[in-house]
Amino acid sequence: MTIVTRFAPSPTGYLHVGGARTALFSWLYARKHGGKFILRIEDTDLERSTQESINAILEGMTWLGLEYDAGPFYQTQRFGRYRQVIEQLLQQRDAYYCYCTKEELEQLRSEQMSRKEKPRYNGRCRDAGEPREGLEPVIRFRNPAGGQVVFDDLVKGRIVVSNEQLDDLIIARSDGSPTYNLTVVVDDLDMGVNHVIRGDDHINNTTRQINILKALGAEPPKYAHVPMILGADGARLSKRHGAVGIMQYRNDGFLPEALLNYLVRLGWSHGDQEIFSLDEMIALFELQDINVSASTFNPEKLLWLNHQYIMNSDPEHVAHHLSWHMGNRDIDPECGPALPEIVELQRERCKTLVEMAEQSVYFYKDFAEYDEKAARKNFKPGAGEVLQMIQEQFTELSEWQAEALHRIIIDSAEKLQLKLGKVAQPLRVAITGAAVSPAIDITLALLGREKTLQRIARAIDYIKNQSQD
Ligand code: GLU
Repeated sequence: MTIVTRFAPSPTGYLHVGGARTALFSWLYARKHGGKFILRIEDTDLERSTQESINAILEGMTWLGLEYDAGPFYQTQRFGRYRQVIEQLLQQRDAYYCYCTKEELEQLRSEQMSRKEKPRYNGRCRDAGEPREGLEPVIRFRNPAGGQVVFDDLVKGRIVVSNEQLDDLIIARSDGSPTYNLTVVVDDLDMGVNHVIRGDDHINNTTRQINILKALGAEPPKYAHVPMILGADGARLSKRHGAVGIMQYRNDGFLPEALLNYLVRLGWSHGDQEIFSLDEMIALFELQDINVSASTFNPEKLLWLNHQYIMNSDPEHVAHHLSWHMGNRDIDPECGPALPEIVELQRERCKTLVEMAEQSVYFYKDFAEYDEKAARKNFKPGAGEVLQMIQEQFTELSEWQAEALHRIIIDSAEKLQLKLGKVAQPLRVAITGAAVSPAIDITLALLGREKTLQRIARAIDYIKNQSQD
């Protein structure tokens, strides 16, 4: 049997952490078994679905690299098919028109609530529905009256729900449009989905969906309901916790594989291993290793993982992502050192690509002004002479290489009988505008002769002007 899984988001918001994790688990399971992964956009709620949200989902999937083998399918393009199935259920008497008015249903509901009963439809039109003038009926599924729904959830184990607990759910609204439980059943059936991996907030729907599938003479798929993700305060992860759309993580300087690694560990484990390449994830992922209880979102750990990936990935690969951030800062990577070299220089100190981009701008573009504190501390009058001495030697240097640059800095400090810092720091502020940078010799080597000499000259002028004021 070919394993077929799907990710079926409703485009009513961004692709968020929880959705992305569901997508990843479904994708991993399909990849592990050489199966098929489908993307289905559940856009039947016309009021709440937006094109913007569809775009965000597609963009998020692409950025994460969760490529799908079929789709995206749009439920709004399948209304004809849903209508067919609804007709079939009506003909089989597994569905019926319900003419109850809104007021009647509301009254029923409040009576049940006052008796402390769970609100549910009382089946009034189940056998005796009478058309009413001017009222467009809804269509309800005739849920089996007795017995139980039993299924073996691949994460939660056996789940048993008595049919008495389930009322006759609406499968088509009075305007004829199909409802969620009907469309999901029809799609999973038509698309051959045999493993449904989704959030455990859908468990109550699953029992209803199984009954509809049985009425259609179909074998229900296997289900794996994944526990939810909580914020640090124990409440369900939401915007309140800063939970944002997946693309925000790109904007904040995360690598997609770091996020995937974080997501796979959010509710799934393999011993105490923390870092998984994609191939390892695919090889090791098992639905039964998904935790039964909810997991807690930990932004610190995500940041740690991101740093691990920045430090240990191929610099070319990190550079590819870094270039997007440089572009955002109006920087053309052609106007300075090759980005993989920047990555190698900066990666120990930068946990995100945003930090790396911000701290690397000076390689490509002149800074507007010196960091005030750094200039005050390091551009004292004597610093002008130091920089002049360095300038002369740098100008004469035949090969612009870190080692030779390093030698000049050390020799100058010795000649001037200064501590190394008294030479290196003014130089650092002169070329980077601030008091912190990676090793000065490598920074100079990468910056290149021309930019270095220009910036030293600029600093000498600045110091002169300061002392004249
Ligand atoms: N469209 C549903 C949602 O976004 C998921 C449906 C499903 O996975 O069955 O919550």
